This record gives sequence, structure tokens and C-alpha cells, in this order.
Amino acid sequence: MSSPPAVSSSSAKVVVIGAGLAGLASAATLIQAGFEHVQVLEATSRPGGRISTTRPFGPDVIELGANWIHGQEGNPVFSLAERHGLLSQDSTTRGMCHPDSFTPRDYFFREDGTLLSHAGVERVCGLFSKITSRAFDNKLEERFRSKSFGQYLDEAFADSSLASSFEDAAKVFEWCKRSECTDVACSSLYEASALEQKEYTCLEGNFYNCLGPGGYRAVLDVLLKTLPPGALLCDRPVTCIRWGLETQSKGAGPFCPVKVLCEDGEEFEADHVVVTSSLGFLKERASALFEPTLPEDKMRAIESLGFGTVDKIFLRFDERFWPEDCAGIQLIWEEGPEDKTIYCKQSEGGAWRESWYKKICGFDVVARHPTVLCGWISGREAQHMETLQEQEVGQVCVRLLRSFTGWPVPEPTQVLFSTWWSSPYVKGSYTFIPCGVKGVREHQALAAPLPNSTVCTGKKPLQVLFAGEATHVNFYTTTHGAFVSGTREAQRIIDLYTKQN
Ligand SMILES: Cc1cc2nc3c(=O)[nH]c(=O)nc-3n(C[C@H](O)[C@H](O)[C@H](O)COP(=O)(O)OP(=O)(O)OC[C@H]3O[C@@H](n4cnc5c(N)ncnc54)[C@H](O)[C@@H]3O)c2cc1C
Repeated sequence: MSSPPAVSSSSAKVVVIGAGLAGLASAATLIQAGFEHVQVLEATSRPGGRISTTRPFGPDVIELGANWIHGQEGNPVFSLAERHGLLSQDSTTRGMCHPDSFTPRDYFFREDGTLLSHAGVERVCGLFSKITSRAFDNKLEERFRSKSFGQYLDEAFADSSLASSFEDAAKVFEWCKRSECTDVACSSLYEASALEQKEYTCLEGNFYNCLGPGGYRAVLDVLLKTLPPGALLCDRPVTCIRWGLETQSKGAGPFCPVKVLCEDGEEFEADHVVVTSSLGFLKERASALFEPTLPEDKMRAIESLGFGTVDKIFLRFDERFWPEDCAGIQLIWEEGPEDKTIYCKQSEGGAWRESWYKKICGFDVVARHPTVLCGWISGREAQHMETLQEQEVGQVCVRLLRSFTGWPVPEPTQVLFSTWWSSPYVKGSYTFIPCGVKGVREHQALAAPLPNSTVCTGKKPLQVLFAGEATHVNFYTTTHGAFVSGTREAQRIIDLYTKQN
């Protein structure tokens, strides 16, 4: 049995590592429950993590990270935004929220500059949606259950009559897969598990819910306001978490079993530490971050779960050059990178680097920015793009736009892209389940607190807890996964003290 805490909740010291949504939700929950010593340590100069609301083009927001609230029912992020009046009330912005990967107002262009018929695109996208739903709803036939998501989609598509009945069907299908990569956050759907798609849960209610003029930052602000002055310290990268400490090093105060060390040498003692670093950061640093090192099953979870990159490319123009009814310009390649043969061929010797831009799905219009387009790119190609200069990326995008549409596309006045892979404290965008990995088992292993109470007797319980998007079994990838995991770990700590009394 674990020994009960020797201190009360008001004197217990909790350190939360990371001021993303998980960390802030955790800290706010603890503070609301009466914990008076909650210290949030954030490595970078701003709170938010993968929520990054910026204003590079004037007063209206550009979201470099999370943009939508996925689903309503049972989604605490939606409830919080609704309660505080943070959802968009503007019909144009809300009109941009569409549950499918394409909208009736998207223009699909072939590489040779021809515009595809909307009816044909709609048939392929409709089929794609039907096939993917079978995976999400756990209705996969036995023969598909060990396959990659990409293989499953290809085989299910080949079984359909549509594959041969429409000339460009396979090319549009390739676009659908490319676009799906930005939801799944993998380099390719041939690397993601078909079977494990079933664990990802979509909540009822509009799938994409748009935030108002304050963007996602307004959601963070609600949580930030609950923190007392000094509770959040930015520019405090944590370099070491010493846990399971048996004796007090010095001083006469109550013994704290965890010590958190920052890069600048500052130390924080804690009864409990909530780690909310992204899976990408843990992949790179977990083996050096913890003393003693993490148990085998947690390291296995960190290594085996996937953490892919999704980036956005913003192009700002002096004037809109696309028709007013156009919601996006989508690019249909003769040989797209999510075609199985091309994917395999390009992987040999890294040929994909030469044509990284082929992974861009297209360019969508941006809420509240009538002269801005946003391109989406994922995987290894996104990581490669991050190594390039803004000017070069801008030139490539303009070349694509000109050659696909034939429209007189001017030079952009500003180019901006996200760099989630190069961000040292994130190292990617969100979690996916690779082929052959058991998602639930690994998410749970990642979320398990230390020390493991079933094998470790006599130690103070719940010394190190793990929250963050990747620690949620069903809502990984999303802000609500992050939020729920943060409050879940805070509640574990709160229960420890309430059960004591
Ligand atoms: C391009 C993109 C688009 C997205 N779109 C959506 C969307 O539309 N809707 C949606 O629901 N979700 C979306 N997401 C996902 C969503 O942003 C994340 O799931 C969520 O924000 C993760 O929150 P988190 O608190 O778990 O992690 P993070 O936001 O990564 O926060 C972790 C924090 O910990 C800090 N940290 C890490 N290591 C240390 C350390 N050693 N010391 C101190 N601090 C440390 C980091 O700097 C960071 O601030 C998107 C993400 C990206 C990248």
C-alpha cells in the first residue's frame, strides 16, 4: 500500500511542467480545489504550447496551431468557450467550418490546369468518407485489421466500382489520402494503423467549431486568469525530474519526494509533478529527463506511439485573386505522394525531398482574412519545408498556384509558416498510432503515474503524473484531449487528499 500524504492539500507542492492547455487545465483545477502551492514551469517565453494565436497580418488572429474545437457534447473546451462567449458569432467564419475534408466551394485543379467537375470530386470524396467511417466505427473486415490505413483505403477503393468509372478518380482519391494525413499527422497513411482508427472518438455536435475574434488564446486566458500571480513562470525549461527521493537533502520542512531542475539551475521541490511535455519532446528527451529513468513500459509507449508533423503555410496578398465563392484551391497531381507506388519509390534514397511541395494539399481561404490563403502540409515533407527560407517556400507556392489555376497570381506580400517540428519543446504536431501498435495500451502506459503503486510500496504516491494530448486514449490529437487529461491528473491528486480526510 502507498503511504498517505503527510501534508494537506493547501500545503502540498505541485509543479506542472508545461503551460499548454493540459498544463493550464491541470493547474486551474488544482487551484480551484484549494491547492495553494501550484507552480507552472513553461520552457518558452509564452503559454499555450500548440495553441499559438498570432496577429502577423494586422488585428485579426492567425492560428499557427489549433484552430477548431472538435465536437460539442462532452467537450469541456467547447463548454468553456460557449460559457465565456468565445465562439464565433459571425456567419462567414462559421460557414468555413465543414465536417468533410472538402466543401462544395472548393476548386480542384489538375496539374495540367483543368478544373475538375464538382460532381466527380464529390463522388470520390463521398466514397472516401464512407470507407474511412468503417475504420472509425470499428467495422473493418477481418482482412483489413492488420493493414496500414493506406493499404486498407487502397483495397477498399479498388473494390468499388468508382475506381474505374471516373478518369481522375484515383488521383482525387490520392488527394483525399493526402488531406487525411493532416488529420492523422503521419508522414503517410501507409505508416498508420487501420484498426486503431477506431479508438479516436468524434464527439457529437458540429465537428469544427470556430472561435471568435480572440481565437484560441481567449480560451487560454480564461484559465490563465485563475492562476495567482507568480504561479506561471515562463522561460523555465525543465532539464531533470528527480523522483522517488528517499531522504530529505536539507532543511527542516516536510520531505518532498520530487525535485525539478531547470536549465538555469533553479530547483523546485514538489510532492507531485504533472508532466505535460508533448510526445515529440519525450521521444527526444525522456531518457535524460528522468532520474531514475522511466520504467520500461513507459519508454516503450513513448517510442512506439507516433508523433507526426502538420504545418500551415500562410500567404498574404495585396488583393484576392480567387473568385469570391472559392473556399479553397486543391491540387490534384498526376503522381501524388500518397499513391502507394509513388510513396515507396520516393522513399528510396530520399527522393521525396526534391518534390516536398507535392505534399501540400491545397490552399484554403482564411477566416477574417480576405486576402490570405493557408496551405496544409504534413509528415517528412513538412519537416523538410521547415528547413527552408520563407521566401523560397513562398516562391514554390506561387509557382504551384499559377501553374494549377492559370490565374494571374501576384507575389505574396507576406509568407509565414509554422515550424512545429523545429520547436524544441514540441517536436511535431500531434499523436498517431503506427501500424502494429496497440493504441489503448500505449496511451495508458504513457499516462500511468510514477511510482507504480502496484509494485512500489512505502513510497509517496503519485509523485510524477503524465497529462497532455498523447495521454488520452480517445481524444488524442485534440485540444479537448489535452484539457481532459490535464483535469484528470489534477483530479487524481485532489482525490489523494480528499480520501485522506
Ligand atoms: C498545426 C496544428 C493544428 C492543430 N489543430 C487543432 C485543431 O484545430 N483542433 C484541436 O482540437 N487541436 C488541434 N491541434 C492539436 C492541439 O493543438 C494539441 O492537441 C494541444 O494544444 C496540446 O496541448 P498539450 O497541453 O497537451 O501540449 P502542448 O500544447 O505541446 O503544451 C506543452 C507545453 O509544455 C512545454 N514544455 C515541454 N517540455 C518542457 C520542459 N522540459 N520544461 C518546461 N516546459 C516544457 C511546451 O513548451 C508547451 O508549452 C493542432 C496542433 C497543431 C500543431
